[in-house]
Amino acid sequence: MRNSSVNKTIAILFVVIILPIAIFTFFQLDNLKENEKSLADVQRQQLETIIFSINQYSDDVMKSLLLKLENIASIPSLSYSDLLKKYPGVDEVAIYRDLDESVEFLSQNSLIGREEVMEILSQNASTIQKLKEYKNVGFSKLEPFNGHSIKGENYNLLAFIIKDLQGLQSVCILFINSNIFIENFLAPTMQKLAADNYVITAYYSETDRIVFATDSTNEQSLQTMPMWLLPDHEIQVNLKRDSAAEVAKKRYHLNLLWTGILVAVLLLGFVVIIRNIKKEIQLAQLKSDFVSSVSHEIRTPLALINMFAETLMLNRVKDEQKKLEYYEIISKETSRLKNIVNKILNFSQLESKKRAYTFEMMTLDEVVKDTIGTYSYHLNDKGFDYEEKYNASDVKLSIDREAFMEAIINLVDNAMKYSEEVKRVEIETGKKDKEVFVKIKDYGIGITQKDQQMIFDKFFRVTKGELYKVPGAGLGLSITKNIIDGHAGNIKIESELGKGSTFIISLPIK
Ligand code: ADP
Repeated sequence: MRNSSVNKTIAILFVVIILPIAIFTFFQLDNLKENEKSLADVQRQQLETIIFSINQYSDDVMKSLLLKLENIASIPSLSYSDLLKKYPGVDEVAIYRDLDESVEFLSQNSLIGREEVMEILSQNASTIQKLKEYKNVGFSKLEPFNGHSIKGENYNLLAFIIKDLQGLQSVCILFINSNIFIENFLAPTMQKLAADNYVITAYYSETDRIVFATDSTNEQSLQTMPMWLLPDHEIQVNLKRDSAAEVAKKRYHLNLLWTGILVAVLLLGFVVIIRNIKKEIQLAQLKSDFVSSVSHEIRTPLALINMFAETLMLNRVKDEQKKLEYYEIISKETSRLKNIVNKILNFSQLESKKRAYTFEMMTLDEVVKDTIGTYSYHLNDKGFDYEEKYNASDVKLSIDREAFMEAIINLVDNAMKYSEEVKRVEIETGKKDKEVFVKIKDYGIGITQKDQQMIFDKFFRVTKGELYKVPGAGLGLSITKNIIDGHAGNIKIESELGKGSTFIISLPIK
């Protein structure tokens, strides 16, 4: 019954606490991951746009040259050398006319000869054919050829078709010194795009040689793409500060940490709640045990008193000796009843913290001796053999005599109640360090380690085996502990199942 209600409560709590936590955590983690991913996507798109702009810009530069060359072809009075000066990096322009198979060089720097140009043309014949077809439909396209090493320098070749006024097509090949071109044309644009946020680097892919960089960086590259017109070069973009993805990652970890802490706190709360509920249920059970055992304890002496009083009242007993015996029983049972009622009253006083102590200066020996003296009748009566050793007569302490006696009686009473074959109680007082102590030792049934932790709890009784038959309310030790606490003292137990128990009360010497 008790277990099933605990299990039910745990199940309900599980559904209302653990399940929502699990669902919350799952969605939270999922969300965090999603956020991180979408931020990284946005970042990637941004970087791609930057590289695209640089490529687009270099395309525009070359297209503007293409237009001018076309115009020059139609207006021959324009100076080629003046035009090429405006395009640093474009070291030579070779124009091949289909009509007369002539090759014209626009600069005077004799970078390359006719044969080499013819060779390049034949190597790229199909590309040229395609470019011509584009031109025929009015589309001016630039097409890079493979890089060429000329006079020890690496040149990028760019081809396009121009048309003169008569509609005759010529193949135009630009010989571009990529270093100079990038430094002169692309560097300013790269710098502008990089601003304060990025580091943009153009480098030669084969050797990783940097041609131009807007700043130095040792960060890992975020995005790298080849250049359209200089295919053996690449543009790389790095971030100067933490990338959005990294910021997101950091936030993700922070959120993860907080989620973890939150979940841990909730779980801890869950465990604490379960423990409290278990305790409460246990207490409720102990209380109900208490009511039934107390009722039983009260009913027995009451029945005896009632029976013997009635017998005496009806004057049925003639023998004086018998009468005396009956009076004795009535008196004994009344004092048992008184004890039970006192215990309950004391306990309720302690519970409501109403019990006020009246301390007086006395030795521990005095009060213990007194207690055993008044209790010796019971010990003898029950056939107990007891031994007293007193070694604490020289220290006076402030003690509430009545309360302290009650504490000792509870212990001696238990020693008697929970002894079976060996009916022996040893009482010893002494001094140790800055304390005086009193030990009450029995050779009774003993208490398991597990139960030892709980015997000072109110209403707790060891309920295993035959023990339950011993009358009691589970209050004696709880009252004793309260009294000892009220004296700023300490009570502990040393016990072994089947061998006996020793209760040790110690009080500080002030
Ligand atoms: P009770 O009225 O049941 O004796 P107590 O609070 O005095 O209540 O003791 C609590 C429980 O501790 C007892 O029910 C008993 O199981 C155990 N106990 C107390 N004293 C002893 C002892 N000297 N030997 C064995 N068990 C003991």
